[in-house]
Amino acid sequence: MTWFDSHCHLEADVDTSDLNEKLRERNVYGLINIGTTMETSRRSPMVARRVKESNPELIVGATLGIHPHDGAEVEGGDYLQFDELIAATKEEHSDLLVGIGECGLDYYYDYCDRRVQRQAFVAQIESAVKYDLPIVIHTRDAWEDTFAVLDDFRDHRFVLHCFTGGPGEVERLLDYNMVISFSGVVTFKKSVENQEAAKICPVDRMIVETDAPYLAPTPFRGKPNNPSLVSVTGDFIAKLKGIDVDLFAKATTQNALTFFSLLPTL
Ligand SMILES: [Zn+2]
Repeated sequence: MTWFDSHCHLEADVDTSDLNEKLRERNVYGLINIGTTMETSRRSPMVARRVKESNPELIVGATLGIHPHDGAEVEGGDYLQFDELIAATKEEHSDLLVGIGECGLDYYYDYCDRRVQRQAFVAQIESAVKYDLPIVIHTRDAWEDTFAVLDDFRDHRFVLHCFTGGPGEVERLLDYNMVISFSGVVTFKKSVENQEAAKICPVDRMIVETDAPYLAPTPFRGKPNNPSLVSVTGDFIAKLKGIDVDLFAKATTQNALTFFSLLPTL
């Protein structure tokens, strides 16, 4: 059984031997480290490199992205800087750069002006198209505007990260040919709709993630999350769907590797 954490945020000073021990204990085969600001995006491939060097058997990738909370960072002409960072990272870390994001729209917190959020979202998708990289989307309370943006990019590869919606949203995301990433949220007692969504979502469109250090799954809820706990969420979903845990682990790992172009086959 091999799990894959398709979305986590590692600290710059992550203790790699502790991380490796945890991943080994829970049969986690690799991870994607996700950028959310200019600073964490600059750091993202370097942290991924350190993890990879600490255990060459792990499959590790990194993304660069500006979270909707931080969209103001790229307001106006400043976006050019981010695009240049992608180009530079592609040169220096071509083996690790696997995607753009997380980016998207967050109307729940509204930390950033909505017009600027949309501008930053579109700009990042345009870069992803230009550099032929898939996109990791964050969306909260902004379904309609998210789909409106995506309508202009129907052919691109997208994953909806930390999907917290219900069955209705699953149908819609599948229409957009999207990969859907479930997090520890699905294990929470009150996540009835999200559990229904996990039940109906076809396995070949699913991947799993931790979003560590946030959103640790039950029974670790409230504690700091780490990439090894993707196995707890995966195990929960497999049981919910009534399918073999090993098969589900293998399928979601393969889906993630395919989506991020990390390996042709397991
Ligand atoms: Zn995240």
